[in-house]
Amino acid sequence: MRVNLFFIFVYIIHTNLRTLAVVNKKFCLKQRPYGKPDQNTWDFCEEKIETVNDGDFLVEVEFISLDPAMRGWLDDRRSYIPPVAVGEVMRAGTIGKVIKSRNDKFREGDYVVGWHGVQTYAISNGNQDFNLGKSLAVSPEKFLGVLGMPGFTAYFGLFDVGKVKKGQTLVVSAAAGAVGSVVGQLGKIKDMKVIGIAGGPDKCKYVTEELGFDACIDYKHQDFAKNFVEASSSGIDIYFDNVGGELLDFALTRLNKNARVVICGAISQYNNTGRVYGPSNYLSLLVNSASMEGFVILDYQDRYPEASNYLAQWLMSGQIKTREDVVEGIENFPSAFDKLFSGDKMGKLVLKVLHD
Ligand code: NDP
Repeated sequence: MRVNLFFIFVYIIHTNLRTLAVVNKKFCLKQRPYGKPDQNTWDFCEEKIETVNDGDFLVEVEFISLDPAMRGWLDDRRSYIPPVAVGEVMRAGTIGKVIKSRNDKFREGDYVVGWHGVQTYAISNGNQDFNLGKSLAVSPEKFLGVLGMPGFTAYFGLFDVGKVKKGQTLVVSAAAGAVGSVVGQLGKIKDMKVIGIAGGPDKCKYVTEELGFDACIDYKHQDFAKNFVEASSSGIDIYFDNVGGELLDFALTRLNKNARVVICGAISQYNNTGRVYGPSNYLSLLVNSASMEGFVILDYQDRYPEASNYLAQWLMSGQIKTREDVVEGIENFPSAFDKLFSGDKMGKLVLKVLHD
């Protein structure tokens, strides 16, 4: 009898460790979009999470990163990463807290950065998570921006691909965005002349007055071409391209000898239903002995700690400033995601998950 009671006791303890009841809200891919995603693209649904198995932990997601690359993951075509499958949770970078753990490396209360998608809770085995511990030196959303994938993209894109040189001229498009804002400030740290391109006077003001770029050209202004030529009178040594399309084509006409064109992204083309607008001015690469090189940040994963260390130092010393544009409520994911393409946001766009 005593033995039986013991086993019942152990069973109850064990079951308690495994079971819980949280309601997870999530956005899954309902249908691949043709052009811009719309209400037919997503399914918003709920499910109960009741068990945490051995080796797993439960993450309460606090912030979800909204990135232009997510648009590319919706298309069923060959890329650097497989597309999100129809029916699957929308892929996204996240930061959240472990609230139940059966994994020795991730304790309850730890902050984790991972790929937990557009959902409020996630079960993980930790294989793709980074444990930040219980206390953070900066607010959590910065780990999805300057201290996360966009910051690392700026760092390796500019230093490794762009090959920074003191005194040279750097031009960066989508300059008020997550990647562009860091690229320009890194350029200033390395004593470059930095010119941003952004949409509208408010963004240009932010880029010059708050971020310290030397100039910013509003590409929506009717005199854009004239203003761009004036601002880049000494030519372009590095063109860090986040936008593609006509802006890239125009920038090619301004290259200096041995210029480097860094193909980071082409957001102007992501929702295109026709052919991608390719640069017709590519012979500028030939006559200037210039290069144009693309890169994918995932190829630099082994060196993330290096970028993280430097970026954290510059952030703490105030040499890098950031803004996070926070949209609250997971149910607002579709409209928040649209802001990446309308430009109706400043700095790094994140979705804040509100828990009851
Ligand atoms: P942003 O935070 O900069 O958001 C996108 C911005 O792009 C918008 O705010 C808008 O700013 C601008 N934009 C949107 N549509 C257009 C258009 N048609 N023409 C010109 N500008 C437009 O995004 P991120 O900083 O996160 O990403 C920037 C780029 O870097 C993207 O292309 C992304 O895909 C790429 N990327 C690449 C990586 C890699 O590994 N190669 C990794 C991470 C990002 P505005 O108001 O100024 O127009």
